[in-house]
Amino acid sequence: MSLKSRLQKLRQKFVENDIDAIFISQPENRYYLSGFDGSSGYLLITWQDTTLATDFRYTEQAKKQAPDYDIFQIRGDIAEWFPQLTGRSGLSKLGFEAGHMTFALHQKLTDALNRAKSKIKLIPLDRLVESLRVIKEPEEIESITKAVAISDAALEHIKSRIQTGMSEKEIAWEIERFMREQGSQAIPFDIIVASGSNSALPHARPSQRQIRTGEPVIIDIGARVDGYSSDLSRTICLGTGDDTFSRVYDTVLQAQLAAIAATRQGMTGEEADGLARKVIEQAGYGEAFGHSLGHGVGLAPHESPRLGSGSSEHLTDSMVFTIEPGIYLSDWGGVRIEDTVVMESGKTRVISKATK
Ligand code: ZN
Repeated sequence: MSLKSRLQKLRQKFVENDIDAIFISQPENRYYLSGFDGSSGYLLITWQDTTLATDFRYTEQAKKQAPDYDIFQIRGDIAEWFPQLTGRSGLSKLGFEAGHMTFALHQKLTDALNRAKSKIKLIPLDRLVESLRVIKEPEEIESITKAVAISDAALEHIKSRIQTGMSEKEIAWEIERFMREQGSQAIPFDIIVASGSNSALPHARPSQRQIRTGEPVIIDIGARVDGYSSDLSRTICLGTGDDTFSRVYDTVLQAQLAAIAATRQGMTGEEADGLARKVIEQAGYGEAFGHSLGHGVGLAPHESPRLGSGSSEHLTDSMVFTIEPGIYLSDWGGVRIEDTVVMESGKTRVISKATK
């Protein structure tokens, strides 16, 4: 992990955001900037210093995982230690993560600073660290590739086992067990196994419903390696599907392949989304593709960039994101096909290898 260059890039953003330090509370950002993955802790990054504030339970772990950081052991309520932590370095403009810090915590910190007669002003920041995380380093792409390989293997595994009469829950558990045994950390999001009419719900929860022949089964899974996620969806059918299945499946596949082939560096998220949406609209299913084409994947299973209408984010090299069009028909079911891709030399390279 190239922490030094990440910190350097972060500090370059201090000037344009008019801050002289940043307080990090968001867990993935904290891990990204320090390597510390304990479940509780904060970072204070100034021009000169890096401090990791955590409690007694994690101080030893913090020293090991974040050797470049000074460890500040916190005791009691944040209102007590926050003025001490921030009062040591002569700060005046302290950025905080407005998308993560709660209103209640912000009020508490403001009160605590006032009581301590601190001159520090809290400055809200909008996804500053996230804007660094969107560009993946080679090591990050390597970790994502490992996670993708596990979800690919899990999909092949379940395809060899799945039978009519198995419940969605049984299948989801078998996939989860397999991925954990193959080296996945705790899985990044709940597995979706949605069969028959349940598959018309893009984010259905696995139920006791038993799989029947001839119906669509959407399987949406992700593994996690070194903190990094994968995200993979396939739609399968035991036996032979009806005419709707082949028509809908072909349309989704053509839309997905079109987007994979034509997404280019410099396009906005909305333009990439449009590549797949056009194919689905032309087949008459425009209304049935009710979600975005894709999203970034990294330390969070859903992060920037967003590929969807209204997204003006420009796609660039070293971004990793999903391409996952779908069609959902309420009285029938749905089909979604999703791969994780990386943008390289201005084009997409598909990381996932699971058959479609
Ligand atoms: Zn996804």
